[in-house]
Amino acid sequence: MLGYCWLCDQSLRIAETSGLCHVCLHDLPRLPPSCLRWRCQRPELALGRYWFAAFRWQPDIQHLVHRFKFQRCPELAGILAPFLAAQVQHCYREKPDAWPDMLVAMPMTYKRWCQRGYNQAGLLTHQVAALVQLPVATGLLRRIRDDDGAQHHAGAGQRWQNMHRSMHCSRDVSGLKLAIIDDVLTTGASMSAAADALTRRGAKVVDGWALAYAEPHQPRENT
Ligand SMILES: [Zn+2]
Repeated sequence: MLGYCWLCDQSLRIAETSGLCHVCLHDLPRLPPSCLRWRCQRPELALGRYWFAAFRWQPDIQHLVHRFKFQRCPELAGILAPFLAAQVQHCYREKPDAWPDMLVAMPMTYKRWCQRGYNQAGLLTHQVAALVQLPVATGLLRRIRDDDGAQHHAGAGQRWQNMHRSMHCSRDVSGLKLAIIDDVLTTGASMSAAADALTRRGAKVVDGWALAYAEPHQPRENT
């Protein structure tokens, strides 16, 4: 049983092993393998070294991420992770010394985790880790404040303020090169808050890897 394309529901053929048919696969809004950090809303506040993402935040990707997060489809982690793994391997090809030592999942609050039943960034992180052969630092980062959805509607400036010092790093990570994994990168506020927490506990460098990059002015409805 090959199943159906996650985007168009067509039956998959034998060669279509990615969970998407060849037409949908070809049409995915891929990003070039370049750093996105300078594109964030407040570059002067953006922390971390490299920010990489696999896709633009366009309808097909919005649909997949929405199903992954809100329609109880944790199995989509296995469909989406290979794209992020392939993208980061491409991104570091010219700078092998920059390759991180360990991966960290973007945390969610306990309350949000109870609502959803899983942390999509955590699932994605474990799948990517297996593909790129890196260990995962579990339980390292904790989100100590959540905005109960207000973050989705907040303007970029407000989002930066809300996220400031909202993460806690539980262990010493001195000298480590870390990469944080999240599903969607927008202003970079969450990524910066996480990088800030890790850097305060000694991380040598912190990179951010996301499945998709949304321009800060793009609506992120329900994500
Ligand atoms: Zn399709």
